[in-house]
Amino acid sequence: MRKIALSILMISISFIAFAQQEDVKMIKSIFDKELTEGQSYEMLDYLTSKIGARLSGSPQAAAAVEWSKQVMESYGFDRVYLQEVMVPHWVRGEREKARVLNSSKHGTVELNVRALGNSVGTGAIGVMAEVIEVNAISELEKLGKKAIENKIVFFNRPMDQTQITTFSAYGGAVDQRVFGASEAAKYGAKAVVVRSVGTVTDDYPHTGTLIYDENQPKIPAVAISVKDADALTEILADTQPTKLYIETHCEMLPDVLSYNVIGELTGSEKPDEIIVVSGHLDSWDLGTGAHDDGAGCVQAIEGLRIFKELGYKPKRTIRAVMYMNEENGLRGGKKYAEVAKEKGENHIAALESDSGGFSPRGFRMTGDDADLKKVRSWQPLFEPYGIYDFDKPGGGADIGPLEDQGTLLIGLMPDSQRYFAYHHTDNDTFDKVNKRELELGAAGMAALVYMIDKYGL
Ligand SMILES: [Zn+2]
Repeated sequence: MRKIALSILMISISFIAFAQQEDVKMIKSIFDKELTEGQSYEMLDYLTSKIGARLSGSPQAAAAVEWSKQVMESYGFDRVYLQEVMVPHWVRGEREKARVLNSSKHGTVELNVRALGNSVGTGAIGVMAEVIEVNAISELEKLGKKAIENKIVFFNRPMDQTQITTFSAYGGAVDQRVFGASEAAKYGAKAVVVRSVGTVTDDYPHTGTLIYDENQPKIPAVAISVKDADALTEILADTQPTKLYIETHCEMLPDVLSYNVIGELTGSEKPDEIIVVSGHLDSWDLGTGAHDDGAGCVQAIEGLRIFKELGYKPKRTIRAVMYMNEENGLRGGKKYAEVAKEKGENHIAALESDSGGFSPRGFRMTGDDADLKKVRSWQPLFEPYGIYDFDKPGGGADIGPLEDQGTLLIGLMPDSQRYFAYHHTDNDTFDKVNKRELELGAAGMAALVYMIDKYGL
């Protein structure tokens, strides 16, 4: 009896060892393939350098839809299709202007600003008003209407440089950009200027979305470069009152029809279990959306391409999804989840890369404890590639809407030290992406999808 139990144990141990060996080998071949014959970098070059910035509703966004569809077709995925989604159509218009007017000590000073996404414009007439500086939305209430009415509110809280994960620092500063305009409008402000949410002191304003409260007047909002935010603080310390002139020509046009782009390898054993690997196709109009999020899109496509190259036939259905409109509306992500629900699709896991094309360090997850535990148990297989952080929570903006369908949400977590130097600026361009780092991320994602496909959740 004991002998039999022992031999069963031996067989199962050797089976596990064999399975592990097979996984080690497969993961190595994914990385080897990507690092020697990868096409993600080439794809990203085309998307950013030939097509360019891809703001929702723009001709470039439409071109990117067509391009990603054609690319996936050319790789011979089983199904490639578009999913209709209506998206906001915000346009920036003529270059923004901002200047300090006749400060007694500093004279006239030009400031680098860019309108925040979704903002109304000032029009040619501009806005001219006295500036009041605050460091948090909560300060507005203390100041009250008397101090704020008819002024331009300058939100100047910097990112906390002591945070090691820059995404945490971003989270701690971004409220003034998203909600500052409507919060200031409650007290009668005429416009807002928001310190760029970035880690570097330079001349590049960081745009980004703002959300208006429909019950408040919509007032113009601009981001100011970190360097000029510091300069403005200095001017305000020297000269009171200080007047500012701001001119922006942005406007929100009617919604337009756009698309999520989906490529699929159909599962051979469990086609109804879907694994998503994804990024968002739209970008801001400054720069060319190389890290945010061209990188994520090409990494997603690349995963499926590598499987085909290696002759790997997934058991489950694997979808590369390129969402439209993450930046100023999230319509694509919402639409994808809505359609999935309507069709009763079963998404077991959704992986998004939307934190830059830098060296991957881990996968951050949100979901069921048992799923998390299972994925974590694979961590040793990823360590040789510098991927070790399998913590929670995590995910991505576009896959978030799948959460209530019981999908395990996973976000690729790259090294975060450089992301907020480029994020939403003129500087988010192809030359800032390192080929090997981009490829390591693509291979890491493909390797994780392989494990989920093989063992299920
Ligand atoms: Zn993004």
